[in-house]
This record gives sequence, C-alpha cells and structure tokens, in this order.
Amino acid sequence: MPHRLLQVEIVYQGSCLCGAVRYEIAGGIRNIICCHCSVCRKAQGSAYATNGIVEANEFRFVAGEKNLTGFESSPGQTKYFCKTCGSPIISKNTSRPGQVRVRLGTIESDIAERPEAHIFVSSKASWEEICGDLPQFDEYEPNR
Ligand SMILES: [Zn+2]
Ligand SMILES: [Zn+2]
Repeated sequence: MPHRLLQVEIVYQGSCLCGAVRYEIAGGIRNIICCHCSVCRKAQGSAYATNGIVEANEFRFVAGEKNLTGFESSPGQTKYFCKTCGSPIISKNTSRPGQVRVRLGTIESDIAERPEAHIFVSSKASWEEICGDLPQFDEYEPNR
C-alpha cells in the first residue's frame, strides 16, 4: 500500500441573501480589511465593507453564477452582486487576475482568519465611531 499524506483542506461556503448564488472557497483568506471609503460604503449600504483576498483558483461558484451582474466601480475593477437580492459577493480587478476579493458578510462558515485593519478611515461616515484595537489607516494599509 502506498503511503498517503493526509491533507487538511479548508473549505468555506457562502451565498447571497436569496440563495440563488452559492460559492465555495477551498483555501485561506488573506488581507482582510474593513474599508470605509465612500465607494465601499455605497456598494454595501453600510458604514464599511469587509473584504478579503482569495486565490482565484481556490474560489468557485457552486450555483447561480449566471444570476450575478457586475458594475465597474473604477477602471478595471468590477463588483459582482446578485441580480435578484443585490447581495455583493466578489470583486475582480483586471490587473490582478489571480485574485478574487470576497465580501466576507456572505460567508456562512466559521472562518479562521480575522480582519487586519481599517482602511480609508479619513473618508468614513461622520456618524460612525470605529471601535476595537485594529490598526487604522487614512488610505490603503502599508505594503498594499
Ligand atoms: Zn441573491
Ligand atoms: Zn473601499
């Protein structure tokens, strides 16, 4: 019998509000940030967006990919959301084809990773008070 290595595989699952769009992440999530910029605030309808990077080859739609539609919010960057319920799911940037930025609020699994920073706090909503000890940056975090 050949000796087999056991591999622990991370698989996270997520979906949109109406359930039409479902996806899986077979890997870790890195660079989780809370972005308070005005674009993210409008895209989420909230004080900030919490997004993380997943390798494109570790992200796949299990259902409803055709139920997504996209909006190019800045040149090369498209935000994809469910046509039916409006849940923001991912964004893609043509300059980084190997990456997908996932909207963490749509993940159903318990994830091991945690947010690392608040960014663009210089453009946060006037009514928002940022709590907690995470580092805060006026623009992108260093080494972006
Ligand atoms: Zn939906
Ligand atoms: Zn932003």
